[in-house]
Parts: sequence; C-alpha cells; structure tokens
Amino acid sequence: MAHGAKGIEEAVSFSGGCQCGAVRYTIAADRLAAYTCHCRECQKQSASAFGISVPVFKNVLTLEGETASWGRPTDSGSYTHCHFCVTCGTRLYHAGENRPAMVTIKGGSLDNPDDVEPVAHIWVSRRRPWLTLPDNIPQWQTQPQTQEEWMELLGGTQ
Ligand SMILES: [Zn+2]
Ligand SMILES: [Zn+2]
Repeated sequence: MAHGAKGIEEAVSFSGGCQCGAVRYTIAADRLAAYTCHCRECQKQSASAFGISVPVFKNVLTLEGETASWGRPTDSGSYTHCHFCVTCGTRLYHAGENRPAMVTIKGGSLDNPDDVEPVAHIWVSRRRPWLTLPDNIPQWQTQPQTQEEWMELLGGTQ
C-alpha cells in the first residue's frame, strides 16, 4: 500500500492526523507541495481565513481510524468528497471525482506543519483584506483552469 507510482523507493514518510487523534495517516512521498486557497468554500471549511491543500496520489496515503464524508459540487463542474474524523470533525482530505487518482490533504493536519510551504495562493480575490501575502510566490485571482495550469502552479511536482 505504501509505495509510490514508480515502485518501491526509499520515500520519506510524512504523518498527520485529526485534532482528537482518532484518525492517523502517513504519506509516502519524497516531498510535498502545497497551495493555499482563499475562496469562501475554503474559508467555511477551515472556519478560518484560507485552506491549505496538499495534493498527493491516493496510493501513497495510508489512513487509520474512522472517517465520514460530505460532498459538494465544485466550480469546475466536478464533485468533491470531503472526509473528516467522526469524533472531532477535523477535515482531513478532499477527493475530487475529476482526479480519481489523487486526494488533497488538508495541510494543517500534518504533524509537522513546516513539512509544507505554499508554492502559490489561489482565489486571492476573496482574500481577507487584513491578510498580507508574500509577493515572492504566485498569486492567482481565481484558480487554474486546466491540468497544465495546475502543473505549472505546483511546479511539476505531481
Ligand atoms: Zn478526531
Ligand atoms: Zn478554496
């Protein structure tokens, strides 16, 4: 289960879990990429100013503990399943039907949040006005529209 698409390599393992500890996960990957999203859905989801998304291949994610999910349509015309701990409600990952091989881990759930640093900010048109973003990484007024744009955003890491 815990091997990458290219076969068994000495992948670094990242770990994380929900707030109460009932759900734990590991990610077998050499490194992680993250972006923040400032859209209203992510503000609601995180009950904060923005969401942190860490896209990973589903087959490198190993998860233990009971989760439930809630789903919603997305702006891009797909549907996303949002998985959370049944005990404490912490949102852990999203699985979009348009990219079945991938999930996006919610970055704040990593044991070491410094394992990821955003490579881009999206939906900055919805950014809270009191939040100042660094100007040395890309900012998108909305979000990438094509697979190529997503690859560009993530720096070709996935
Ligand atoms: Zn929990
Ligand atoms: Zn968002």
